[in-house]
Amino acid sequence: MDYVFACAMRSLAVSILVVSYDIACQWFINLRKRITSDWPTELHPPKTTNLIPAIPKLHEPMHKKADHQGFSFNFIPGVGLTDGEAPERIWAPHNALASATRQQAPGSRQDVLDAHFGFWNWLKYIGQGDTLLRRYKAAVADRNLQRRHIGGLQIHWMIRILRNGRKCAESGKSSHIRRQRRIHTRQRTPVSRAHSGTSLSDHFLSDVRIGGQEDPRAG
Ligand SMILES: [Zn+2]
Repeated sequence: MDYVFACAMRSLAVSILVVSYDIACQWFINLRKRITSDWPTELHPPKTTNLIPAIPKLHEPMHKKADHQGFSFNFIPGVGLTDGEAPERIWAPHNALASATRQQAPGSRQDVLDAHFGFWNWLKYIGQGDTLLRRYKAAVADRNLQRRHIGGLQIHWMIRILRNGRKCAESGKSSHIRRQRRIHTRQRTPVSRAHSGTSLSDHFLSDVRIGGQEDPRAG
């Protein structure tokens, strides 16, 4: 594993490298020590390269360890919505090759497998335009949705702050601030799905469908 990783890194000239691996949490523990003591010097990555370990999103919850969030793609800056599972998505469509090539000699079997994986990569390469366009559209819709919801939240809090400020000014007593703080703490109980009712979830689903934009059918 170390050798494959070292060879892959030789072709890269980047200062930050996110290394996604199902058991990155374990493999990374003594990596720096192994690089120094075991790796040939010609395979050493530049000392300035910042290696960031990550565990693919499907695998990360299976580790069931406390304080494991450091390996989550959700908290690594700059990775967007990457889930890290793409290298394994190639497996299922190629299952049929196992029995189709089992009677071949090792050399020809390797060639056939290489040809299929190469074809998969080529399809992925020529499909990048469509993929990026699809994801761009989804990202814009999601951006609109987040903006709208955060905007609503800001308005809600501004109104509360203004109301409280006016009451404070009117009463002019610090006891009023303490009372407001107590009320706010009590009201912080999370809203469950049962509490929110179907109308709220229906509203949310509709919002997701139209990407946070005004529904053109509404007018
Ligand atoms: Zn782990």
